Amino acid sequence: MSLSEEARLQDRLTGIRERIAIAAGKSGREPAVIRLVAATKSQPPAVLARLFSLGIQDVGENRVQEAAAKREILGSKGTWHFIGHLQKNKAHAAAHLFDWVQSIDSLDLAQAISRGATALGRSIAVLLQVNVSGEGTKFGVPPEAAQELAEEVNALPGLELRGLFTIAPYTEDPEASRPVFGGLRTLRDRIERNTGLALPVLSMGMSHDFLIAIEEGSTMVRIGTALLGPRQPRVNR
Ligand SMILES: *Cc1c(COP(=O)(O)O)cnc(C)c1O
Repeated sequence: MSLSEEARLQDRLTGIRERIAIAAGKSGREPAVIRLVAATKSQPPAVLARLFSLGIQDVGENRVQEAAAKREILGSKGTWHFIGHLQKNKAHAAAHLFDWVQSIDSLDLAQAISRGATALGRSIAVLLQVNVSGEGTKFGVPPEAAQELAEEVNALPGLELRGLFTIAPYTEDPEASRPVFGGLRTLRDRIERNTGLALPVLSMGMSHDFLIAIEEGSTMVRIGTALLGPRQPRVNR
């Protein structure tokens, strides 16, 4: 990275942290409770190394092979989140590479990661991906099926169920996503009440809608372009 790129990254990070603090204040919370995951898909390893040196701990990737190549270079640094759609045949590799898998949307997938984690003697933090809007993203469990899946996933060895994850459909006006984020929060509250499970993590909010997501109770935002600029076009995939 050039010096000017590094300065720009530092500036963007400062700006995002300020905006996170304002939104947290609006929802009556301390900024420190909001975890910032840098969505680093398509970014080269040098960018992740720079983020770690700027104090960012969490990075989010959506392809197993791409993450494997980066981890080979970066070693054990950082906390790695899988935030894409995971195929079952990659579950074992994912259990090896990632500390968190946010996109659990079936018992089959959860069982496959559980087997991988158990074989490796690891514990993987997981979130259930919920398709709150019923449109937009193809993936995620419907809200009405989330409670049953939460109880099943919670019973699996090698997995620690921490909460819920959603992606709001893209809209010009992020205000339109407020009901999606509020919907995930009320679903979480209801599942906690009905089951006694603790689901403290709500992963919701990206570059264009993270302020609204935080106002609605997000505890984890996944930010790519607002922090890192436009993604590099993907070659040969
Ligand atoms: C890429 C990605 C993000 C970050 O998106 P930006 O709009 O660049 O901030 C967040 N969440 C998921 C699941 C992603 O795939």
